[in-house]
Amino acid sequence: MKFSVVAEYYSKLEKTTKRLEMTALLTDLFLKTPPSELPKVVYLTQGKLYPDFVGIEIGVAEKLYLRALSLASGVSVKELDEQLKQAGDVGVLTERVLSKKPSSSLAAFMGLAEEELTVSEVYGTLDKIAKVSGEGAQETKIRYIAGLLKKASPLEGRYIARIILGKLRLGIADMTILDALAEAFAGGRENRPILEHAYNISSDLGLIAEVVAERGVEGLKGIKPKVGVPIRPMLAERLPTAEEILERMGGKCIAEYKYDGERMQIHKSGDRVVIFSRRLENITHHYPDVVEMSRRHIKAREAIVDGECVAINLDTGEMLPFQELMHRRRKYGIEKAMEEYPTAVFLFDCLYVDGRSLLNLPLLERRRALKEIVDESDRFRLSEHIIASSIEELEEMFERAIADGCEGLIAKSIAEESVYQAGARGFLWIKWKRSYQSKMVEPVDLVIVGAFMGRGKRAGTYGALLLAAYDSEKDQFVTVAKCGTGFTDEELFSLPKVLEPYKRDSKHPRVYSKLEADVWFTPAKVIEVIGDEITLSPVHTCGLDVVRRGAGLAIRFPRFTGRWREDKGPEDATTVKEIVEMYRSQLKKVTE
Ligand code: ATP
Repeated sequence: MKFSVVAEYYSKLEKTTKRLEMTALLTDLFLKTPPSELPKVVYLTQGKLYPDFVGIEIGVAEKLYLRALSLASGVSVKELDEQLKQAGDVGVLTERVLSKKPSSSLAAFMGLAEEELTVSEVYGTLDKIAKVSGEGAQETKIRYIAGLLKKASPLEGRYIARIILGKLRLGIADMTILDALAEAFAGGRENRPILEHAYNISSDLGLIAEVVAERGVEGLKGIKPKVGVPIRPMLAERLPTAEEILERMGGKCIAEYKYDGERMQIHKSGDRVVIFSRRLENITHHYPDVVEMSRRHIKAREAIVDGECVAINLDTGEMLPFQELMHRRRKYGIEKAMEEYPTAVFLFDCLYVDGRSLLNLPLLERRRALKEIVDESDRFRLSEHIIASSIEELEEMFERAIADGCEGLIAKSIAEESVYQAGARGFLWIKWKRSYQSKMVEPVDLVIVGAFMGRGKRAGTYGALLLAAYDSEKDQFVTVAKCGTGFTDEELFSLPKVLEPYKRDSKHPRVYSKLEADVWFTPAKVIEVIGDEITLSPVHTCGLDVVRRGAGLAIRFPRFTGRWREDKGPEDATTVKEIVEMYRSQLKKVTE
């Protein structure tokens, strides 16, 4: 398939922010793509070459790219640098430069058709660029990029440039791609859940695309858990009281400690161990100790288990707060960090053992399987739990969890239908966190989408950040707070630098805001915020019209808790639904 077809669609996609239009355009594009090339088109459309868990990125810096563009166009790097300032975007710059390029040489002179770029050639070259390393890698990359640009039309150049620099940003979420695939190959969007299920197990949109295009919905049923391929994690809903939890659970449930650490999905096959984070990044190299413990204590030859890793004090066995563990997320000096910040792992689920998927078994059976395959030790064991059937038992367990340094409890259904719901946040798991001395019961995780310039003491940095919750239904980020407190001076003055990579000229298309920020950001960074309460608001767009017409919800007196939620992506932020529920349960308490 010609790359020009893809570029045309990108150009149309860029012009709309309406999800339905995007879906229709993508459906069209997917139908035009031969199935064997669909994975490439799907990854490229998201600005990637592989699903995230593979961890291969193109990784080209702007400077290097400009050298390649110079080589392809004959325009000097200095001149390109100047022009880039004007164009403001490397895609626009490339398009302009290529449109001035005389049509290439001999072929044109002889009246021969010029060779057009194909999707495979573009993808294949980008793949080579991503993988070259060692001596001379920079020069090789420049040659590959220049080679592509020489053949590219101006419009193709616009998108090739953006993909190479990780700036494609068509704003297409995973669910939109699944909608389009369902529309194209599975009989309509109402069948998206079938695709979504397969995606939750494989975390690979390219694979889903190829399978559904070649073998339809039936083919998707053959997608099973596989060691080395992360399963999207099951998540918990929240409720504020033991009564509500027990009622929802039908009077009986498992209550487990909610450990304050990092989620880990551990995959083991023989001696090989891979660890995935909550966001499905491969974090194996940060945790050589966990790799070693998994090798030693998981008895099955092949297994996928789910758990939480916590920083501990080796002398006392005490659990330490989440921030301590984040010291382990460094690039270098892993061995030293491992000594300074030792960990323990608490396992709470078992998804796969020796060729058998356990996803559809009820929780108690999965836990039994977990017990069977784990040879427990102090630092590698099953999560603390009880089976609770009264409010008193739950409350007592909750106090115990807090006293032991946990955040609270996770109550889990033990009903027949308590399967592992990969990728879903549902009421089969309910979290119950520590209550703070305020009406707002617990902190929320919000996405930074904009900022307001500071004045006086804060001149030169931001006075407040504009924070948003995630509206999962509309796939949008809606504002809920303006937060300028809780930061240390040092943190405050480092904000512009930390946020620089996400800065943009205008509001991001997925952000819905009535407020005009001074600076806008691509939704990426998530921080934890606590406030006094949730109130109705005329200016914020979170939950607009849900509780009262014309009003949204806002967090009153929001304060940064000091936690950057590096482990969360923007779509993992607290959702509008959750904030509406928090608002309602707050009201209930006031009226009780
Ligand atoms: P939070 O911000 O509260 O950590 P989250 O959005 O990351 O929540 P939730 O589904 O809301 O995810 O809460 C479940 C999280 O709690 C899991 O992702 C996991 O990291 C952690 N956790 C700690 N102990 C347990 C446990 N026993 N069972 C399940 N999850 C646990």
